[in-house]
Amino acid sequence: MTDMPDTTLTSDPSYHVDSAEESDDAAGYYVPGAPIADTKAPGGPIDEQWDARKFEARMVSPTNRRKLSVIIIGTGLAGASAGATLGEAGYHVKSFCYQDSPRRAHSIAAQGGINAAKNYKEDGDSVHRLFYDTVKGGDYRSRESNVYRLADVSTNIIDQCVAQGVPFAREYGGLLDNRSFGGVQVSRTFYARGQTGQQLLIGAYQALERQVRAGTVTTYTRHEMLELVVVDGRARGIIARDMVTGAIETHLADVVVLASGGYGNVYYLSTNAMGSNVTASWRAHRKGAYMANPCYTQIHPTCIPVSGAHQSKLTLMSESLRNDGRIWVPKDKADCTKDPRDIPEADRDYYLERIYPSFGNLVPRDIASRAAKYQCDDGRGVGPEVDGVRRGVYLDFADAIARLGRDAIEEKYGNLFDMYARITGENPYEVPMRIYPAVHYVMGGLWVDYDLQSSLPGLFVTGEANFSDHGANRLGASALMQGLADGYFVLPHTIRDYLADGPFDTVEEDHPAVLEARAAVQERIEHFLTVNGTRSVDSYHRELGNIMWEYCGMERSEDGLKKAIDLIRTLRDDFHRNVKVLGSADSLNQSLEKAGRVADFLELGELMCIDALNRRESCGCHFRAESQTEDGEALRHDDLYAYVAAWEFTGSPNPGGTGASAWADQMGAPVLHKEELTYSAIEMKQRSYK
Ligand SMILES: Cc1cc2nc3c(=O)[nH]c(=O)nc-3n(C[C@H](O)[C@H](O)[C@H](O)COP(=O)(O)OP(=O)(O)OC[C@H]3O[C@@H](n4cnc5c(N)ncnc54)[C@H](O)[C@@H]3O)c2cc1C
Repeated sequence: MTDMPDTTLTSDPSYHVDSAEESDDAAGYYVPGAPIADTKAPGGPIDEQWDARKFEARMVSPTNRRKLSVIIIGTGLAGASAGATLGEAGYHVKSFCYQDSPRRAHSIAAQGGINAAKNYKEDGDSVHRLFYDTVKGGDYRSRESNVYRLADVSTNIIDQCVAQGVPFAREYGGLLDNRSFGGVQVSRTFYARGQTGQQLLIGAYQALERQVRAGTVTTYTRHEMLELVVVDGRARGIIARDMVTGAIETHLADVVVLASGGYGNVYYLSTNAMGSNVTASWRAHRKGAYMANPCYTQIHPTCIPVSGAHQSKLTLMSESLRNDGRIWVPKDKADCTKDPRDIPEADRDYYLERIYPSFGNLVPRDIASRAAKYQCDDGRGVGPEVDGVRRGVYLDFADAIARLGRDAIEEKYGNLFDMYARITGENPYEVPMRIYPAVHYVMGGLWVDYDLQSSLPGLFVTGEANFSDHGANRLGASALMQGLADGYFVLPHTIRDYLADGPFDTVEEDHPAVLEARAAVQERIEHFLTVNGTRSVDSYHRELGNIMWEYCGMERSEDGLKKAIDLIRTLRDDFHRNVKVLGSADSLNQSLEKAGRVADFLELGELMCIDALNRRESCGCHFRAESQTEDGEALRHDDLYAYVAAWEFTGSPNPGGTGASAWADQMGAPVLHKEELTYSAIEMKQRSYK
């Protein structure tokens, strides 16, 4: 007799379907504000809006473009594509990144692929289907106009990249090959083995370098933006630190674009590059840019499980592996320590195939992640015990190898299998991989309108840094699509409407707003170097990550989130009184760099919890224990929560002053501006993948 659970997914059956009555768990933690709306998307049929906007957007003549300047923070796919395109158009572009080369941006890590509605497989795909899948995948919490445009321009991206020489995988006949990703029933994911991000970034980087040579783009590597300069209510520049010499530099321009990536590292352990952080976005937020849906965090189901308490990085196994790998756990808890090859078919629970027969192993990420968690919570996890629990499920290729042959599997996923073998010491061709969910991507980010302009005029935000088009859950292979759509095809049209107001007044380096921003950077650096406490920056980061994972991770509850806010506030206060930052300000100092980033994470973490507390519904990745269907699926409350939560910062934009607590307590209760979400082209439904 096995102890296999029924199809119920819930981790705690004492929770029940919540009533949709209005109840504001976050009352007292925030201040309600005026509604906010996107005013840039033209009305009319959804498939005509983008053409209309492009036509309406005012033009800037080639001669005038040469007189206008743009700062772009970030050289990942979103930033490099924007830099190359705006440079090609003739604007003066200054491009910043903190890596030693633009092409080392985190985008290089992307493995699985990039979506586009080309319908090469003739399997029923279309722009409308990609639009529909994305809105549904995001659990009806994204802006319809933006998502349609994304689906629409997706096909151009592939053409652009092929023209640049990106070596997408091809079929025998020469057509570009496709594979499937979660949450869809077509094959629309273009890929370059398991290195899609790297190949796309090389394409964008080459285009950027071409403009460097042409003289339109200047790159600033090893430079970290530490403050935004706002003059008369408009973003006009940045203060950056040269990370090698420590010099504080002022850079001014007519418009600023943030393409600074996501903030998943607020959880400490994530699949993001170690350097990914929120500082550029958070500094802009403190200066007036609203932060939207910060609690929407994507937890990816197929990562290599945590193996011990001292780990500082998690590794993704691409979602593409779910095309051919089958996910299972032993039916019987007693089998969890056995060699998986000794467990017969009849004793295995292919739980995704069982619960979701229509989508099987290709359910969206949020659903696959929660399902894995519940199997492990139920005691049927596999692999080594960490803190008393086995947190792993099998991803098994035995069937696929038997069906297609080892060579075919190696050709598709060889580098991923090699990576897995190097990290775990196990051979995935012979023993099933072990996987477990890990923080991977953030759908939240700075609020932008249809033009990708933030609530702060002159500040545009692209790629993962904006709150994006993915609603409450991003479908696999859609981040690369969005970053390149923003940079190659959307921003170049929308930013010109803003720049058409030029020429703008010149801002001098001794303008009071510039001097104030520089002073704030210098004070902050001095503060970190003079606290001279006893704890390392990393230890604070790890503790924050544990709080976020425990209370604002795969499942959230009112009590847990309130506890997390208290814990974060105490931790933040302690950080500013007791952190130890070694070294000096005038040289390479990674401890100092991290201190600034962790200080910002400590503020962001609190806002994420307040956002999660306010949203007493489950949608996509945001699973509130109080709001689930009887069989444990996410239960939305469209009557109450069909909005984007755009948060305004109310504390001091430049904290400091007297005493350590002056640094820690300067958050203020954030103001919540709601952007109502309405759907005209798609009907809102409860999601089902069964
Ligand atoms: C392991 C992994 C695999 C993935 N695979 C896929 C996939 O197969 N398909 C898919 O669609 N998505 C995938 N994703 C998601 C996708 O890779 C990212 O969402 C996307 O690459 C983000 O691109 P970006 O240009 O917005 O930001 P990034 O690539 O993160 O670039 C950020 C840039 O901003 C710069 N920057 C940041 N802050 C500052 C600052 N303060 N000052 C100066 N510069 C700054 C950085 O130097 C960098 O150049 C994956 C993610 C991970 C973690």
